[in-house]
Amino acid sequence: MKLAIGMTLAMLVAVAGALNAAAQSRAQQPRYDLLLKGGHVIDPANHVDGVMDVAVSKDRIAAVEKNISAAEAAKIVDVSGLYVTPGLIDIHVHVGHGGAPLNWFASEARAHAAPLGVPADTALESGVTTVVDAGSAGADTFAQEKEEVIDHAKVRVLACLNIVADGMNGGLEQSLDQMDPKRCAETIRKYPDVLVGVKTAHYWTKDDWDAEHTPWAAVDRAEDCGRAANVPVMFDFWPRPERTYADLILKKMRPGDIHTHVFAQQFPIVLPGGEINPIMAQARSRGVIFDVGHGEGSFWFRNAVPAVKQGFVPDSLSTDLHSANFTRLSMNDVMSKFLAMGVPLQEIIRRSTVNPAAEIRRPELGTLSPGKEADIAVLEELHGRFGFIDCGYARMAGNVTLAARMTIRGGRILYDPTGLSMVEWEKAPAQYFSRPVLGGSQRAKADDYPRE
Ligand SMILES: [Zn+2]
Repeated sequence: MKLAIGMTLAMLVAVAGALNAAAQSRAQQPRYDLLLKGGHVIDPANHVDGVMDVAVSKDRIAAVEKNISAAEAAKIVDVSGLYVTPGLIDIHVHVGHGGAPLNWFASEARAHAAPLGVPADTALESGVTTVVDAGSAGADTFAQEKEEVIDHAKVRVLACLNIVADGMNGGLEQSLDQMDPKRCAETIRKYPDVLVGVKTAHYWTKDDWDAEHTPWAAVDRAEDCGRAANVPVMFDFWPRPERTYADLILKKMRPGDIHTHVFAQQFPIVLPGGEINPIMAQARSRGVIFDVGHGEGSFWFRNAVPAVKQGFVPDSLSTDLHSANFTRLSMNDVMSKFLAMGVPLQEIIRRSTVNPAAEIRRPELGTLSPGKEADIAVLEELHGRFGFIDCGYARMAGNVTLAARMTIRGGRILYDPTGLSMVEWEKAPAQYFSRPVLGGSQRAKADDYPRE
């Protein structure tokens, strides 16, 4: 009897001890999965501009506050001396299967043009977490692009649907029978999570007009689709005497429509006397949006520098990354050019986060608001002697440039080329120092390593 009681007591003590340990471990369970500590946070959506810590729980932003305790986080990354911003948004890129849809080599398109797109995740190297494909695909080709490219990208890929059903890569951009506003709008309504606008581009830039090819045909049909689907239209445009830039931005475009490639050589942004064309302010006052869309031929300092000096900075910065320019162009490069032209960093971040999010009507993006998806860029401002080039093979010197040091998408660190989040090799866990006997690596994922 005594023995039985003794055993019972011992068991009770053991059970109580176990319960106590469980409670303690619950108490010690860190509140946050990731804490970016000591960075200068710029989040224009929330009017934040100062040194703050950013905490992440699972895939969400949990807190943006001063001095969040390190004890509350499972993993801490020291980002002091760096800028922490919402994941950047590049609203003009062309994505593809390393360059083309899977069936490209068997397609008719091959005879007409080089493949257009670049791997979507190239964007992560600039701190970009959301890209918008600017009309690579149309109603006939979008499902394939979605299945083969968009659904597999780590970066978030949204898209504007080309008014041309075949899209850009098939050599059919001049065929009016390809431009069906009804089919375009139906497709946009079918994929509301991904399709955020309409795109028109490259239409009849030099040949004589004829019965089929009237000056405004592509513009009007894109607008018909935009109205029917209730989304903005993004314009790549070439002015001609019968189709002027002033008429585009003052008459044809609706408020919220986007003129991309604004500093391209063909636009009368700057008048012969050097002053900015007053139509730019008039268009802005009626709600027209201007986007950079740098690209292979669409950014000229002779337009950009006088415009910026006179206070005209485009509403959004974007790259127009495609297969002909991605080796020398990036979102950080475009941002650096505006920094070099004297635009304050805060305004550059605004035009790479909250502004493009509003343009594509996705206000949940481009912000570090707690509860939103944890898309974060960590950027470094570097000082030295730098040179920047435009599309006319002219250069501009500068003494400051931006480079991404880390990119977090949905709470996961996807880009960390200098190991900000990694352990010093001497302090790595035992697994790191073991030599694999059989084939196959025993690497731990960076996230598995303990915090220092
Ligand atoms: Zn483009």
